[in-house]
Amino acid sequence: MTLQGKTAVITGSNSGIGLGVARELARAGANVVLNSFTDRDEDHALAAELAREFGIKAQYVQADMSRGDDCRALIEKAGACDILVNNAGIQHVSPIESFPQDKWDAIIAINMNSNFHTMAAALPGMRAAGWGRIVNIASAHGLTASPYKAAYVAAKHGVVGMTKTVALETAQEPITCNAICPGYVLTPLVEAQIPDTMEKYSMGREEVIKKVMLERQPSRDFATVEQLGGTTVFLCSEAAAQITGTTISVDGGWTAL
Ligand code: NAD
Repeated sequence: MTLQGKTAVITGSNSGIGLGVARELARAGANVVLNSFTDRDEDHALAAELAREFGIKAQYVQADMSRGDDCRALIEKAGACDILVNNAGIQHVSPIESFPQDKWDAIIAINMNSNFHTMAAALPGMRAAGWGRIVNIASAHGLTASPYKAAYVAAKHGVVGMTKTVALETAQEPITCNAICPGYVLTPLVEAQIPDTMEKYSMGREEVIKKVMLERQPSRDFATVEQLGGTTVFLCSEAAAQITGTTISVDGGWTAL
């Protein structure tokens, strides 16, 4: 399967899932546009590395996904956007009565509103090109809730709802819009929490992973960024042309409970 000649824009892709998805899209032949809010040499170096490794075109575009204008400018600066992966996201954990208002606003803006802006900006180009794929990286928290994650759960449920709406608006066109709902994924962010959790519970690494971190994930195993990248590539394939407006869980059985 090849995505040669297609350009993929992946928001929040200088680390974790976004970078993993970008790598798998590049491996499948797509040109990739990486993004985050920073503008460091190492961000641009990531794009150069992908171009070298997979023989594709790659660029890094700085844009802050908490700002609507930046979201829309990202699509414009990308030059083309056949595949849009909305991945940028942040988290904050707090009981609702003390949830900081600025954290609420930032999570809703980055995790949900950015999807509205990028999709609105990308759709006209997809229509003109006669092909498009939108993959929104939601979460198991787009389908279920956990305490203390009001903003994250609200934003991810919003993403799932918006995904269905855009799928209906494009249903008779060669464009699909789906959401992937990961459970716990082993990203650098999650890896960094392991030592502290080991200390807090006086447990070894494996015990902490299986009994504490993956308590809600029946497989007792993390999903990987490669698996999420592979699921994204599948959603971009011809086999998935009639899959639209739905969610694919990559959560080791979390939402089956
Ligand atoms: P991460 O922190 O490694 O990656 C988040 C990315 O978003 C980074 O590239 C970061 O630079 C970028 N980002 C943050 N704020 C931004 C902004 N204002 N503008 C542009 N980019 C910004 O985390 P991750 O685990 O790879 O998460 C990626 C996505 O996957 C998020 O939407 C997250 O909610 C979702 N997710 C993660 C998990 C998990 O277990 N790791 C599970 C379910 C869903």
